[in-house]
Amino acid sequence: MENVRIAVKKEIANQKLTSLHHEFYSPSQVYGKNVFSLKIMRERLPKQVFNRLENVIKTNAPLAEGDADIIASAMKDWAIENHATHYTHWFQPMTGVTAEKHDAFFVPSSNHNDGNLLNEFSGKMLVKGEPDASSFPSGGIRSTFEARGYTAWDPTSPVFLLENSHGKTLYVPSVFISYTGESLDRKTPLLRSNEAVSKQALRILRLFGNTTANNVTAMVGIEQEYFLIDKRYALLRDDLKLCGRSLYGAMSDKGQELEDHYFGTINERVLSFMADVEKQMFELGIPAKTRHNEVAPAQFELAPVFEPANLAIDHNMLTMQILRNTAEKYGFFCLLHEKPFAGINGSGKHNNWSLCDSEGNNLLDPGNTPMDNAQFLVFLAGVLKAVHEHSILLRLATVGAGNDHRLGANEAPPAILSVFLGAQLTSVIGSIINDTEENEDWKQDMIKIGISSLPPFPKDFSDRNRTSPFAFTGNKFEFRAVGSSASSAPANIALNTAMANALGGIALMLETAMANGKTLAQAVHETLAAVFKAHFPIVFNGNGYGKEWQEEAKRRGLPDFKDTVSVLAHYSDSSVMNVLIQNGVLSERELLARQDILFENYIRDIHVEVKLTLSMGRSILLPSCLQWLNKVGELAEKAEELCGKQSVTQGAANFEMHYYQQLRELIAEFYNNLNELDEEHIKTDSLSGVFARAEATRDRLIPCMNKCRAVADKLEKIVDDNLWPLPKYNEMLW
Ligand code: ADP
Ligand code: MG
Repeated sequence: MENVRIAVKKEIANQKLTSLHHEFYSPSQVYGKNVFSLKIMRERLPKQVFNRLENVIKTNAPLAEGDADIIASAMKDWAIENHATHYTHWFQPMTGVTAEKHDAFFVPSSNHNDGNLLNEFSGKMLVKGEPDASSFPSGGIRSTFEARGYTAWDPTSPVFLLENSHGKTLYVPSVFISYTGESLDRKTPLLRSNEAVSKQALRILRLFGNTTANNVTAMVGIEQEYFLIDKRYALLRDDLKLCGRSLYGAMSDKGQELEDHYFGTINERVLSFMADVEKQMFELGIPAKTRHNEVAPAQFELAPVFEPANLAIDHNMLTMQILRNTAEKYGFFCLLHEKPFAGINGSGKHNNWSLCDSEGNNLLDPGNTPMDNAQFLVFLAGVLKAVHEHSILLRLATVGAGNDHRLGANEAPPAILSVFLGAQLTSVIGSIINDTEENEDWKQDMIKIGISSLPPFPKDFSDRNRTSPFAFTGNKFEFRAVGSSASSAPANIALNTAMANALGGIALMLETAMANGKTLAQAVHETLAAVFKAHFPIVFNGNGYGKEWQEEAKRRGLPDFKDTVSVLAHYSDSSVMNVLIQNGVLSERELLARQDILFENYIRDIHVEVKLTLSMGRSILLPSCLQWLNKVGELAEKAEELCGKQSVTQGAANFEMHYYQQLRELIAEFYNNLNELDEEHIKTDSLSGVFARAEATRDRLIPCMNKCRAVADKLEKIVDDNLWPLPKYNEMLW
């Protein structure tokens, strides 16, 4: 019988190029078509209700119950007119993916015999869904006997429709909280962190004389990387299907040395896939913008235009779902994992972040006047202070078993957090720091904050540093350490909270100086000098990959947590928790629960990999290796019969026998490694306490898994290609 992999390979090779279906459309006509947007709400809601809702969206105030009823009814009418049959609260539990539970709009009329259906969707249903929370991680906050969690619409993210073959479902972006009021999701703390940063940023703006802005929002643009491979290959690999990464597979013979894929011509099937994805994004009001090939073969990137953080994150969660679902249609399998292929560049999510006031001003934009620039420098100082003081918090926002393959593993970006500012800005900061020491005059002169002569920063740096985990790119910071499959929420929760804390500190310094009779200019001068000086060690413009940087970072006292387990242990440090607690983002109980869940997630992810390494090794790879061994054994016997023990090479038995023995040794090694992994797995499982299990998972299971893989990959290179069952890197990636 022919090996399935070979059959698939032939099928792909012989595939006739069928022309893809063409369907042209105008983005502006479909944009937001599936969203119950502000525009539609304005049309459909009574004026006063709409005005109050708009205020709720701007200020995050709670929605009045009477209004909720009216809004729900308008939503329902719109949804049903657009062929919706069901609605669902859509939320982001700590599993890392989104969750939903669908309910029909229709209920039988109270007179059961009349055969009629009534539709029903009240304000109560909009703000309070009640999914059974017992199957979502709560880190012990809620025991199953009180397994109730509530979901409530977050009005800052509009409801939308998703289509299936029989109709549509109305999706209600929601927060998810426990019966006792604790957050069980990632949206609640994100909203709270935005409030925190808004409050502190406004404090600074007021000092600069701005009396009109009434809110500041984090703006986020998320670049998403992903891999596409032929679905027929993926279906032959349980590791790709279930874990999103190959647990076995020898490095392909062609590497990515030439980087010939990067920004290369996009092949037609991929381009059609991308266009389809974008159309669906447009319909959902997601402003898709760029698409291109990435560095690794079969790797691609997509980025929308930035939006308020909450919306950007909801949209990114949806985008990941669209990418996965649409791939099927084009015969692809989409891999969002951080490291689907060992030895090939991994995937990340670049989280571009800035702060914008309610009047549309980007607070991280240098601006044109000395005053604007002084304010910009204060916010810049805030960022340096935030990243320097809360680097553990930020590192914690990037944990995950998948991301451990990138951070701290000789791949971009390094696990050490530092800020790239570029030469120009770094020298401005240097002169501000030095001025204080050398020259007293400057204090009198607003114009001399080293700023009046500050040229407009080029929006596109020529010396953009791709190795930095946190880079200033003209008018925003790009946090590059987020994993490609992860939610961007933790990163923005951490950024907003750290920034809120830093700005709070800076505001206090300025306020105190001014209370002591200093002018704003003097206060700004001395505060900037002090803050820049204290936090200059977080600035690093060099090569983040080098060994030298690790040593230098150690001298500067910057933490370097190479893996999830080592940094997660610090989640419960009071210095880490306090900043979140004091800024009203998460309570101690919520934080401890989260630490527990993140440990469990890590253990769960790796244990699935362990089980698959074992089952694929034992039931797929070993049998094929043994078949080949058997064949070689027969040959060796035959050779001995024909030629005697005489060797072609001196001293040894015939070469067939030599080959047989070598092969047998490798297979035995594989067999033993699998047994060892099995034993360690059982031992790890029996440990009590998440920390002990997580540590054993990292220190014993991962090395054992790597050993299994290493020998299997050697076998892949020598076992008869016709017998090898798993699609190879060569085939999948090129
Ligand atoms: P790169 O050159 O790194 O590939 P781009 O310059 O194309 O990236 O922008 C990357 C992302 O940054 C996009 O999503 C873009 O909308 C977003 N972005 C641009 N300006 C801002 C800003 N002020 N705040 C947040 N995100 C922004
Ligand atoms: Mg980028």
